[in-house]
Amino acid sequence: MPLSVAPGGQAVLFASSEAHPLIKTGGLADVAASLPMALRELGHDARLIIPAYPQAKRLVRELRVLSDVGLKGTQGPVSLLGGLLPDRDLPVYLVEAPAYFCREGNPYTDVSGRDWGDNPERFLLFARVLARVALGLPTIDWRPDVLHCNDWQTGLAPVFLSRYEERPATVFTVHNLAYQGVFDRATFDRLGLPPALWSIGGVEFHQRMSFLKGGIAFSDRTNTVSPTYAEEVRTAEYGCGLDGLLRQLGSRFRGILNGIDYRTWDPLHDASLAQNYDLDSLELKAANKHELQRHFDLPHDEHSLVLGHIGRLVEQKGVDMILDLVPRLLERGNIQLVVQGEGDRVLEQRLLEHAAQHPSHLSVRIGYDEARAHLIEAGSDLFLMPSRFEPCGLNQMYSLRYGTVPIVRRTGGLADTVVDTTPDSLASNDATGFLFDDADADALWGAIERALRLHREEPATWRRLVQNGMTRDLSWQASANYYQAFYEEALESRAQQAVA
Ligand code: ADP
Repeated sequence: MPLSVAPGGQAVLFASSEAHPLIKTGGLADVAASLPMALRELGHDARLIIPAYPQAKRLVRELRVLSDVGLKGTQGPVSLLGGLLPDRDLPVYLVEAPAYFCREGNPYTDVSGRDWGDNPERFLLFARVLARVALGLPTIDWRPDVLHCNDWQTGLAPVFLSRYEERPATVFTVHNLAYQGVFDRATFDRLGLPPALWSIGGVEFHQRMSFLKGGIAFSDRTNTVSPTYAEEVRTAEYGCGLDGLLRQLGSRFRGILNGIDYRTWDPLHDASLAQNYDLDSLELKAANKHELQRHFDLPHDEHSLVLGHIGRLVEQKGVDMILDLVPRLLERGNIQLVVQGEGDRVLEQRLLEHAAQHPSHLSVRIGYDEARAHLIEAGSDLFLMPSRFEPCGLNQMYSLRYGTVPIVRRTGGLADTVVDTTPDSLASNDATGFLFDDADADALWGAIERALRLHREEPATWRRLVQNGMTRDLSWQASANYYQAFYEEALESRAQQAVA
């Protein structure tokens, strides 16, 4: 791969099942593009590896075939391609295995939203290739010091590597503990995994197999994406059955907050906006509200407050709480609500029905649209994120950067990134949004009412709130420094194992 890196840096292979802008279903894709880049800026030779989905192959620059991987027992040949991300100088490897990854749909489901039936085989294959590359393929002149795996789709790679002496250190990041890659015993048998792994110290999880447990238990270090979520998942309430294992890991399990990519999310240079702006030209933000109202077929009214929401439509994100509030929001008169998302068909239907009943107040777009997500962030006055749990969350940080005040539940990364508005936090210029505790519509309404009151009664204070959010450092720099230290720890513990 072509790009040079300062001496002394670590070689890091960052393994992910999605990466923006190649293919994206959620926050992991954003992280997979920006964290390796931030690590490169610190002098590390970070490279990305993802499956060669057709969409990804179409976008990678300077794509070329690097090597046959030489795996046995696969459906068709498996090779490694190499290239660069389209919008930045980040080297990327693509795992080319057409029988597994060359299909329409997203990385996990077909076009109708059903999980691919052979997901265990697909991500077993991905993990086998990760292990091969991590140990050094003879035909590519590069070996990582650290293999950084992400989520269950990569969970078996640290398991496979654990029996090799000459392996790199392994770091595993859990982006959402609720997605575990759990399959039945018949699948375990079908995958041909070593029988010894069917045990409490292996990948067995309540008489089933868990890819995620494998990643957590077999890596040198494990983390999740915010300090508060790291604490929460050590409890039975949030731990999804893995809390005992996470508690057992002690300080080998940590929370490291995600950053956001300032190249992609910058209101002053964002090509998806009707009007660019920054802190010094905040009055220009209003043009985006106008454009948003136009896009969403809402009446153009600069005095209406626009509340935005973007997200996967799943129970986790709490969009049902927002729906429960529609009658109360309408009573307020000058409020408009825009929602964009896709996912659970029942929630999609409920949203569309509400929107049909209240066309001048609620507008819904079902689907995934990156550019429109940027416009929602810029054009809304307030952003709602009433998540039941939230490992980190990115949209609340995009909102802060775009001068759109977030209203969030006090959980996980939301609690770590938004500072509630109180007399004290206002006095110290720390306040950036509004938090609430209980996961119900009444509590969300309480926070919205506090926000509406402040907006109506204290415009100067409101402006300060917006300014505080826009000037918060949300970049990857701090997080990349934490990951650097985490890699060093993993390498250290690896070196100690080698001596023992
Ligand atoms: P999660 O990873 O749980 O989906 P995050 O808040 O961490 O939640 O990240 C979600 C990312 O996906 C954000 O970049 C968000 O803007 C984007 N996103 C989610 N749904 C949509 C959608 N329907 N259209 C455009 N972007 C979306």
